[in-house]
Amino acid sequence: MIDFSLTDEQEELRRTVERFAREAVAPVIGDLYERGAFPYEIVAGMGKLGLFGLPFPEEHGGMGGDYFTLCLALEELARVDSSVAITLEAGVSLGAMPIYRFGTDEQKARYLPRLVSGERLAAFGLTEPGGGSDVPGGMRTTARLDGDEWVINGSKSFITNSGTDVTEFVTVTALTGEKEISTIIVPNGTPGFTVGKKYSKVGWSSSDTRELSFDDVRVPAANLVGERGRGYAQFLQILDEGRIAIAAVSVGLAQGCVDESLRYVREREAFGREIGRYQALQFKIADMEVRAHTARVAYYAAAAKMLAGRSFKKEASIAKLVASNAAMDNARDATQIFGGYGFMNEYAVGRFYRDAKILEVGEGTSEVQRILIARALGLPPSV
Ligand SMILES: Cc1cc2nc3c(=O)[nH]c(=O)nc-3n(C[C@H](O)[C@H](O)[C@H](O)COP(=O)(O)OP(=O)(O)OC[C@H]3O[C@@H](n4cnc5c(N)ncnc54)[C@H](O)[C@@H]3O)c2cc1C
Repeated sequence: MIDFSLTDEQEELRRTVERFAREAVAPVIGDLYERGAFPYEIVAGMGKLGLFGLPFPEEHGGMGGDYFTLCLALEELARVDSSVAITLEAGVSLGAMPIYRFGTDEQKARYLPRLVSGERLAAFGLTEPGGGSDVPGGMRTTARLDGDEWVINGSKSFITNSGTDVTEFVTVTALTGEKEISTIIVPNGTPGFTVGKKYSKVGWSSSDTRELSFDDVRVPAANLVGERGRGYAQFLQILDEGRIAIAAVSVGLAQGCVDESLRYVREREAFGREIGRYQALQFKIADMEVRAHTARVAYYAAAAKMLAGRSFKKEASIAKLVASNAAMDNARDATQIFGGYGFMNEYAVGRFYRDAKILEVGEGTSEVQRILIARALGLPPSV
């Protein structure tokens, strides 16, 4: 039997995050977004609620939940704002998760408590100026062992949460030999490690995204995460999970568009009646709800396979593809329903419109998802 209903605990968490998003995020995010300011107070609030610890066991200070519970929280946050949702997503799935999954006991004891409590953030530096889809082909960052230290040289592009006041370190992928990729922890403030200024972005304006450069950066050999040469396999695993999380963020944005549109069509009048009386707009909103619902089912299905310990690669790609399409389509339709006001920054739908595009790019583009789905179907490598 298939049962996609939430447990009492999951429903309680969903309601708690829904309330937090409404009361602590919605009133302030428009101003922060406009100024491109990082939402420090909101991050602290999410930390107090335990959101950064959702999928981690209690022995590491976590909430003892699972990855699906994290996705529920991400969806509720993204219904109101995606910069906040992606800050949590990256903090957990790209910051803390690699340490939890692959780190040594010492690394876990040292870093996890403060990441899991949300006091500190960590980032994952994979993408380079030379390419994000073809990671091995585009990778130029190197790390060589010199005595008991790694010496790192190179650069990384578009790294989320890498330069906030509370960022502790970046886990960096680097070539440690010919065709050998490893992951290494580089604490912020290490000499030679430069965190660039924030990019000026189309959307996710309150999320921290920076370019990083490494110039003979020396860190202890013990900063290697997991086995030498396992970096490629590690990030593939992290990205598979991350795709379900990005699908959840996308569903939240798609649902937020429905929420805002439902409210607006009851308030706004044209030609003597509420615009919600016009069938053209009712059909638009019905289609938006269909997209959000379908995408939610897709990410629930991928998460169910993941939690059951079964292979979920294809389902994660399907969920990310369907959900990011839903987010883009709903953002376009919602701004249309708002007419000229949809183009004004003071309305949330304008923010949703700007934020939706990156969902088709981050953590694997839509083309990369199609490549992965085609491969899972047994099709030969394409050119
Ligand atoms: C706001 C933001 C935050 C990010 N955060 C992080 C982060 O925290 N950590 C991190 O490591 N990275 C991060 N990224 C990077 C992101 O994951 C990459 O931008 C993404 O993977 C695409 O890589 P690229 O930009 O190099 O595009 P490219 O790989 O250069 O792709 C360009 C185009 O070519 C297409 N393409 C490439 N190869 C093929 C092919 N074989 N067949 C068909 N089409 C193809 C792509 O789909 C795309 O349309 C972030 C990016 C942004 C914009």
